Parts: sequence; structure tokens; C-alpha cells
Amino acid sequence: MVKETEIVEPAENNHTPPGWPIELIEFEPSGKAPKSPHGNGVYRFSAALTLSVILPRRGWTLIKQTKNYAYLRPPADQPNPPFRISIAVPTRAECVAIAKRSQARGKSWMGQLGEWPVLYIHERNRDMREMWRNRDTGKIETILHPVPLQSSLHIGEWGIWQAEVNDDSGDFVVTRFSPEPCPLEGATDQPTTAPVVDLFEGAERAVVLTTYERNSEARRRCIAHYGATCQACDLDYEKKYGAIGAGLIHVHHITPISRVSQEYQVDPVRDLVPLCATCHHVVHRREPPYTVLEIRRAIAERAACPLSGPREI
Ligand SMILES: [Zn+2]
Ligand SMILES: [Zn+2]
Repeated sequence: MVKETEIVEPAENNHTPPGWPIELIEFEPSGKAPKSPHGNGVYRFSAALTLSVILPRRGWTLIKQTKNYAYLRPPADQPNPPFRISIAVPTRAECVAIAKRSQARGKSWMGQLGEWPVLYIHERNRDMREMWRNRDTGKIETILHPVPLQSSLHIGEWGIWQAEVNDDSGDFVVTRFSPEPCPLEGATDQPTTAPVVDLFEGAERAVVLTTYERNSEARRRCIAHYGATCQACDLDYEKKYGAIGAGLIHVHHITPISRVSQEYQVDPVRDLVPLCATCHHVVHRREPPYTVLEIRRAIAERAACPLSGPREI
């Protein structure tokens, strides 16, 4: 657990740090707040930690804050989404420089730079121990997958603006710098939802999840058990696309996030499930993710009333 620590950074205690350009950031609510009891024109936002603080400084009214959402009423001059605010954001180069200075100090820290929450994790051990039961002997077998130590810096919050810097064999690279499209490509799983109030721990866990979902041996065992078929919609890439689709499938980690820790051991059959790219995308639309059963039900419901129009998103 990273504690708030005293860190000397130039951007601390300063809403407009020197060298940080003021950017116009456009953002969308995750929905409207219920009319009752909030009245009309109140919106729900997912970046609760950040928005509940920075928007009231800009004429917004904070109606309510929950663990996952902030409900806010916009100022009269921009009543409808998409909303815009101007705010100082670090450049990519400055993000890397902050990561390097943090690395040099040699410890994890969290705090605030400019108006953004920041979490730096120093050289985290990401080794993974995988565990399964040997079907022949009935015994538990384990294997340790060593993963290089990695430091990472996260600035901002998902749902408004965020930057992520990771060390790639000793060199820091910017791996996320929004506003940019959410990455969800190829056979790997990029968590697009850094959890909300959970931001600090969530950022760390998201990396853990990625590691599990990318682990090739666990993935192989999972597919060996279920087949390379989407367990939510039954899509089989090879059946649909022929040879060019053979073996293509995402593997999703279904264990509740709260159970994931460095000591956590993956059971490729119980904890992992093959999903097609589309279903995987939908599963991660919510934090915590939808279950495979929920997706199956949603597809069945949709199939049952094909004439209803597209629903509001
Ligand atoms: Zn699917
Ligand atoms: Zn997933």
C-alpha cells in the first residue's frame, strides 16, 4: 500500500505549474443523474476523485459523491455535454522527467501535481505464481513466471485525462497520454478502466491483470480446456474467417479484482475464460467487469427483441 508521502516536485501545490501548457479538455458524463431527487440537468461522472474537486473550482455544483461517481450540475454557460474545461497538463517529456526523478528517489509515492492525482510505483515485483491441479496425480503443481521489476507513473484519472509512464527495461516510455483512443487491440488485454475511487490501488491492479491475461502458459491451458471459442457469444474465429482466424481469441481474467495480489495464483480454468474481442470489449465496459453470464443474457435479451432500436449508451 502506497502512502501519501512528502515529495519535492516543482508541480506540487501549484495548479498551473511552470512549463505545463493549459489544455482544453473535452469530457463526457457517464450518464444523467436520476431526476429524483437531483432535479434536471445533473450529470454523473466516473472520474469522481478528480472531478469532484476540479469542477467546483470552475463554477460547477457538486451535488453528491459516491464511491464510484460524482454527480455535478454544470454551470449555466455550458449546460449540455460534451463539456470542456481548461486545465494545466504536463507534457509527455515532463511525465517522463517526473518518472525519472521518482525513480532516482527510489520509493513509491502518491500525491497531487497540478490539479491531478499522481501515483508512482517503484520497482514493483510482478512475478506470477501459477497453480493447477495435476489431473493424473491429483496434486497441486505450481510454476513461477518471473517478470522484470517495473516502475510506473500514473497521472490523472480515467474518465477525464490521464498519462501513464512505464519503464521498459530501464527506459521510461509514455504508454498512455489521453485524450487518445482507448487501446483495445490484438490478442492482449489492455485495461481501459483504471478503477475510479480505487484509482491508486486500481492502477497497480490493472497492471497485475494485464500480466495474468497476457501470460502465455496460463492462456494456453485455458484454451486447451475451453477451446478457442468465445464463451459469451460462441464465436469461433476459425469457423468464421477460415485459416486466417485459427487460434485467435482473447483470454479474460474473471477473478474478482479484490482477490488479486502478488501472491495470487491463477487457475487457468476457474479464473480465465476465452472471449472474442467484441465480448471482451463489452465485459470491460464496467468496473468491476460484467460476468460472462451477464453478457450471455444481454445477447439473448437482444436477440429476443430484435426490433427495438439501438439503446442509448
Ligand atoms: Zn464473443
Ligand atoms: Zn479482460
